[in-house]
Amino acid sequence: MTYIVALTGGIGSGKTTISNSFREIGINIIDTDIIAKNIVEYNSQISDIIKKKFGKKILNINNSINRFLLRKHIFNNQNNRLWLENLLYPNILQESKRQIKLTKSSWCLWVVPLLIEKKLEKKVHRILLIDLPIKHQIQRIIKRDKISIQDAKKIISQQATRRERISASDDIIFNKKKIEKINQYIYYLNYFYSYLAHKHYQKNKIDIKKNHLTKFY
Ligand code: ATP
Repeated sequence: MTYIVALTGGIGSGKTTISNSFREIGINIIDTDIIAKNIVEYNSQISDIIKKKFGKKILNINNSINRFLLRKHIFNNQNNRLWLENLLYPNILQESKRQIKLTKSSWCLWVVPLLIEKKLEKKVHRILLIDLPIKHQIQRIIKRDKISIQDAKKIISQQATRRERISASDDIIFNKKKIEKINQYIYYLNYFYSYLAHKHYQKNKIDIKKNHLTKFY
């Protein structure tokens, strides 16, 4: 079984940026956001259910789903958000499993923003958190997505708390440093995860899960 490292973190914490750096050094990335986007776009059974539920207000002129409008819609209504997550997650997990099996690198990075919220911690061998104080999350998503501070705060309030994420994680990158510095952490973590994967494939038990928290602050 492929050695799986989950990468998680709040909105705008830097998951995509950091997973791209892992990709550049040859690690296979399985990204649940990309999988979800593809399901909504190409799985006609699922997209029909979504269209039926929300109607015209989330559609483009050509009748396709407008992801920006859908996102706005679900973040304004907790029931709608949970409904959509429950609809998509079985497919997201199935497709993740398929992609993980195809991994060529010695370990793979599974990018799962909702790892804690969906209680998926037990499905992985190690958890890497991309950590960022809320103040900076807000600044980065306002700049990137051109949304209001109120909307940014609303989205963050619906996610797991920073404390919950920290206590569930094995390794933490504090993503307030320059990307050059973060890339040094990424090199180190690649060596470390390759070692853990090697031991895992040899079925050598090494009990470093909880007492070996690596923090890059
Ligand atoms: P989402 O949860 O919305 O998918 P994310 O966690 O993938 O977001 P990114 O898109 O990688 O986050 O990063 C959010 C923003 O912060 C982007 O504009 C990115 O360029 C910027 N960013 C990421 N890391 C850093 C960093 N170390 N220093 C400065 N800016 C950064």
